[in-house]
Amino acid sequence: MNIILLGPPGSGKGTQAKMIADKYSVRHISTGDILRENVRNNTPLGVEAKKFMDAGQLVPDSLLIDIVKDRLAKPDVQGGYMLDGYPRTIPQAEALDKILPSLKQKIDVVLNIDVPDNELVRRLSGRRMCKCGRSYHVAFNPPKVEGKCDECGGDLYHRDDDKEAAILNRLEVYKQQTQPLIDYFNKQGIIANINGAAEIPKIFEEISATLNKF
Ligand code: ADP
Ligand code: ADP
Ligand code: ZN
Repeated sequence: MNIILLGPPGSGKGTQAKMIADKYSVRHISTGDILRENVRNNTPLGVEAKKFMDAGQLVPDSLLIDIVKDRLAKPDVQGGYMLDGYPRTIPQAEALDKILPSLKQKIDVVLNIDVPDNELVRRLSGRRMCKCGRSYHVAFNPPKVEGKCDECGGDLYHRDDDKEAAILNRLEVYKQQTQPLIDYFNKQGIIANINGAAEIPKIFEEISATLNKF
């Protein structure tokens, strides 16, 4: 089963992705995590991407398309995967539609997670991340030990793009560049709308009810 997770920044894609990956044995492919790892390791891609990420802007399509093309060809994702944070623009979606047939793959379902803006700001401003990819929230989803990841014990950090100015930018970028994808995938008849303004387990129930059909 191949899944796309669509939704604004802070809608809970990463949080739900961890749970989906465990229950349905699909690989979690987060382009944000891949980019952040490159930034940490100071690779040429990371150096280029950081300028855009810190400002809350999208990294150029050509870089992302190359990342995803490589990742989808790896053996570990052939049993099923979940794309989190890709595609984010129409050109990225069109590129994906070209890549998939050459890999004999298709997307089964796009989970479109909807959350109102004021809730997104509250979630992003309190988010704390681990470099293993898990995210927490200081009030809504705190770790067992303050400042430490439940899963790997790593130190949690506040992302540079989870500060007020970058958050507002990212929400605007989502509306301008990513939201049109809802229409794009609706035309393909593969969208499932998920109410993301609920408690974490409740959202997972709704997602599970959808995925159980595949
Ligand atoms: P995304 O990957 O879509 O940007 P995350 O999964 O990182 O979003 O979640 C954003 C923030 O909101 C994190 O701090 C997370 O702990 C918190 N969060 C996720 N889902 C919920 C929810 N249903 N209710 C409240 N807070 C949530
Ligand atoms: P969030 O879910 O909180 O918006 P991500 O971790 O998915 O954050 O992405 C963080 C940043 O990485 C984005 O703001 C953007 O700069 C960059 N990025 C990730 N995926 C893409 C993509 N598909 N296209 C362009 N930029 C991307
Ligand atoms: Zn961790």
